[in-house]
Amino acid sequence: MALTRCGKCGERMSTLAAVCKKCGTAVADAPEPRAPSFLGNMTLHYLLAALLFLAGAWMYGQAYYGRGAPPSTLANVLLYGGLVWYAVARCVSWFVRR
Ligand SMILES: [Zn+2]
Repeated sequence: MALTRCGKCGERMSTLAAVCKKCGTAVADAPEPRAPSFLGNMTLHYLLAALLFLAGAWMYGQAYYGRGAPPSTLANVLLYGGLVWYAVARCVSWFVRR
């Protein structure tokens, strides 16, 4: 938990506090309480989804241009899993932010 200073009286306070303990000034830019990490960290989800998708796409490329064989089940799972994960993350973040 990070510390900041009250803009009015200079009292040290948590960045998560909505009001200063000393003078009661409301902190304008206090972050709103939100669900911790799993749903909150959307950037991580986007990154992992992109990684999955790229891994799947790479395996697709290997399959077609390397061996001439159809892509493996794993390639499909990675490619479409990445897409679905990204879509779900988009939807979740859209609902969370409203
Ligand atoms: Zn204060």
